[in-house]
Amino acid sequence: MLIAMDAQHQLVNAATADRQIEYYCPGCVQPVRLKRGAVIVPHFAHVHATDCDAFSEGETTEHLRGKQQLATWFAASGYTVRLEAGLPEIHQRPDILVRRGTAQPLALEFQCSPLSVERLAARTQGYRQHGYQVLWLLGRPYQRQLHLNSKALKFLQYQQRWGLFLLFLDTQSTSVRLLHHVLTLDTEPLTYQTIRLDTRSQSVLHFRQLAPKINTPTLPDTHLRHYYQQLMLARLRHQRGFDALQVACYQRGGTIAQLPTWTMPTVPQLPLLSVPYLVWHAHVFFALRQQSGRLAGSQLEALIWAQLRPLLARRACLQARGTLIQQLITTMITMLSEQQVINWQKTEWQVNSDQLRWRKH
Ligand SMILES: [Zn+2]
Repeated sequence: MLIAMDAQHQLVNAATADRQIEYYCPGCVQPVRLKRGAVIVPHFAHVHATDCDAFSEGETTEHLRGKQQLATWFAASGYTVRLEAGLPEIHQRPDILVRRGTAQPLALEFQCSPLSVERLAARTQGYRQHGYQVLWLLGRPYQRQLHLNSKALKFLQYQQRWGLFLLFLDTQSTSVRLLHHVLTLDTEPLTYQTIRLDTRSQSVLHFRQLAPKINTPTLPDTHLRHYYQQLMLARLRHQRGFDALQVACYQRGGTIAQLPTWTMPTVPQLPLLSVPYLVWHAHVFFALRQQSGRLAGSQLEALIWAQLRPLLARRACLQARGTLIQQLITTMITMLSEQQVINWQKTEWQVNSDQLRWRKH
């Protein structure tokens, strides 16, 4: 911990604490010892082993340093900053709590250790339900190439200008890395665009107003489609959901390679599924085959949603989840219509059985 309490209940930062004075943990009120030296980040640690809820001794140098860097960055940008502030009303203690003007207070969490998706969801909800915004920044253990099953993905957040994004704090270079418009094309790794910002020279305000340009994805040319599909299938073979999809195809008298062309994803999509998009598309194909003739708009949406729901990944930090899911369904309907799997006839959808056949080898 970076902050401890003196005998007068005043909070003191380890960087400026007095070695001669006794300090106490603001969480459990047990005595703590000041640790400060040439190579270590100044911090406090409990004198005796304790089952303190607020602060464990497992805090890494990276975590301690990151908290100091974030505090410095936000303070330099005109924010009121509280390090390790306890919020008794929600029994939570964000790494840093910042506030500027009349805006909602913002809790900053610098995550360097494993965290279950359940705990992440509970903490995120706790903040939001009590009027705090929250921003998760990830440390080194999460800085790996992004795959569909990366642990970092549960921290995906969304805002209009950045799309689905992740934030990393690199304490070595004192910089923040924004991965925005994170997308998947059923291939590993995921795609995204990056902005790096030096927290020593660029303000938080500049950072929060970033409105990066999006590179629109290009579609493969028609003559490349076949090659492209082979490539996709080869990559998909190693992914979660592939074996189950293979079984599902066999049970319906086909194989993955015989799925109609339109089921093959060609545009990068939001990484909100726990499996490749092909799996969802294939299940829509199966479900539509069961339909004969016409479908009302609401029936079609219900059919698509029923196939999508079991495939959704748990994304604990997403506030706009409902809107994003609606976006997925709308995109699916547009694609089905463009591919003439369904055709709009005055007031309802006509299902086109020509597009609902297994391809011949
Ligand atoms: Zn304690």
